[in-house]
Amino acid sequence: MKAAYITGHGGNEVVQVGQCEKPAAAPGQVVVRMHAATLNRVDLYMRDSGAGITHHLPQILGLDGAGTVESVDADEPLLRPGQDVVLHPGIGCGRCEFCQRGDTALCVRIQFLGEHRDGTFAQWVGLPAAQVFPKPAHLNFAEAAALGVNHLTAWRMLFSKARLQPWETVLVFGIGGGVSLAALQLAKAIGARVIVTSRDDAKLERARALGADHAVNGKTQDVAREVMALTGGRGVDVVFENTGAATWPSALKSLVRGGRLVTCGATTGDQPGADLRRLFVRQLQVFGSSLGSLGEFRDLLGFVERTGLRPVIDSEYLLDDVHAALDRLESGAQFGKVVLRIDH
Ligand SMILES: [Zn+2]
Repeated sequence: MKAAYITGHGGNEVVQVGQCEKPAAAPGQVVVRMHAATLNRVDLYMRDSGAGITHHLPQILGLDGAGTVESVDADEPLLRPGQDVVLHPGIGCGRCEFCQRGDTALCVRIQFLGEHRDGTFAQWVGLPAAQVFPKPAHLNFAEAAALGVNHLTAWRMLFSKARLQPWETVLVFGIGGGVSLAALQLAKAIGARVIVTSRDDAKLERARALGADHAVNGKTQDVAREVMALTGGRGVDVVFENTGAATWPSALKSLVRGGRLVTCGATTGDQPGADLRRLFVRQLQVFGSSLGSLGEFRDLLGFVERTGLRPVIDSEYLLDDVHAALDRLESGAQFGKVVLRIDH
């Protein structure tokens, strides 16, 4: 089968499109004929350095994806050949204390597609049946693929960790990236008030069109000051953060007393000043989060079906053009997901 994989670490020269062994049917496993996957920042980290993740070379890239079930055990109760599906990329061990409590997102031996085992930038993927969910009917394969990392991550951050409520205000940093856009969509879908930031006015304009209530330019405006003006000097209930050091000080200053900050990334640096005095005096709460559990994915998919939410797609490339797709993601110019179409 055709797949995109890394043969080492460096630039696009280590990313090749070539032939790999097609996954075989095995007990408890589903073989999915892939139609679309989307790029995530970790694909760049895998290419650049491997990001300290234990993996073999060559390693097929790609975490999320959607496709059609090709084969499945005869006694599988939920899935049938020919069914359109979307994949949950984190495979728990099923044995550690966290898996036993049902939170596979905390599994101590978790294996991610495209990091620890063959990924989704391939014509077929084999994985445990528990990771495979029916595709929301109103979404195409590219839109569905985007749910597996971005929307799942934003779902856990907003609702499981920060417990955002419909009457609250959330500040979303760095609008335009996939996770931030997912947060905007999900927060608006429950009726919350959303303030977004970006250093790019065109992205802020598009975020407004998607329902953002207020937009602040982080390059030309003081974010915390603007947030205070927009909230009557109160501050926001929740800050949704994945940029790290560059935005951390204004993130803390934008929170109401007792407010919650939730983060899933540190693209600009992971050692910001802690401002502990502000943390305890104002009794702030800080949550770390990463991806989401099988149960959270199930809830997300039900919510997406009911609300008709559609992930934002920036651009689409064929698997053969994976270099151009990686360049697009690396540019930071994208608004929404960069998609790989898997042709057969
Ligand atoms: Zn486990």
